[in-house]
Amino acid sequence: MPELRKDPVTGRWVIISTERGMRPISYEKRVKEKKSGQCPFCEGNEQHTPPEILAYRSNGSEPNSKGWMLRVVPNKYPALQIEGELNREGEGMYDKMNGIGAHEVIVESPDHNMSLAKMSEKHIENIFWAFRDRVLDLKRDKRFRYILIFKNEGESAGAALEHTHSQLIALPIVPKLPAEEVAGSKTYFNYKERCVYCDIIRQEKDEGTRIIEENPDFIAVSPFAPRFPFETWILPKNHSAFFEDAQKREYEHLSRLLKIVLLKVDRALDVPPYNMIIHSSPFFESTQDYYHWHIELIPTLTKVAGFEWGTGFYINPTPPEEAARFLREAPTK
Ligand SMILES: [Zn+2]
Ligand SMILES: [Zn+2]
Repeated sequence: MPELRKDPVTGRWVIISTERGMRPISYEKRVKEKKSGQCPFCEGNEQHTPPEILAYRSNGSEPNSKGWMLRVVPNKYPALQIEGELNREGEGMYDKMNGIGAHEVIVESPDHNMSLAKMSEKHIENIFWAFRDRVLDLKRDKRFRYILIFKNEGESAGAALEHTHSQLIALPIVPKLPAEEVAGSKTYFNYKERCVYCDIIRQEKDEGTRIIEENPDFIAVSPFAPRFPFETWILPKNHSAFFEDAQKREYEHLSRLLKIVLLKVDRALDVPPYNMIIHSSPFFESTQDYYHWHIELIPTLTKVAGFEWGTGFYINPTPPEEAARFLREAPTK
């Protein structure tokens, strides 16, 4: 059973998960999987994943068989375990709890050679609907406080399998980074009585220099103080704390914008590995006034090293104004 442990100084939680260490992640293994047709996420290999939680099927095909366009399955090597009661415990001065959580994989396409950037807008929209379906389902589980949806694209961004997929982790605690974002937004709101992200959108639209792309419902910008080269934020123009509260039209516009941004990133940076993370509000907190959900896209171009580890601040060689201009002008074909 995995375990959650809290650092008593910083309040940061870590997951101690020995099962995770069993994952097949070597490069040789990946090549073998592809060549031998043994990729567990490919159509026809449904028996190599745990039984599906959700699938979008167009032709009335049976669960766990061919004929899907998108599947959600439990992670075979979960960082956390779904079964059991949540037990919070002290061990002397230390705090820990058993590693209860959900760890799911969203297999975004049956096609091994597909990528998010290459998919149709409609298919990308379906992925967002699947995220929403899973969040709404998991939110009913009262053990959970936060759900993180993320995508590791490319081996150096942490993807253990090449086949295009995203992951979802539901946690019994609110992790430090989201908690800091929520707290920062709240402080700003208390002082100015405005949402900080709505103010960011307003100022970026006024200045224009850090805008990469926009449409009626979403805007993609290089943030004013990015940690990494070409770090990109995608923000809904309509103020809302929760990703899952977005409307049909917003998911359509999000898919359209994301596809354009990914095509530009692929073109400008030669198909880099990247991490994409949905930042949405924790549950059971009235964040609606001051938190504003968004997506962060971080191409993996630099490595975090001693200075960053030692200080928690980052040296970024690419000014965001240049990154934005470069991506704005990059073709999508
Ligand atoms: Zn595959
Ligand atoms: Zn806002």
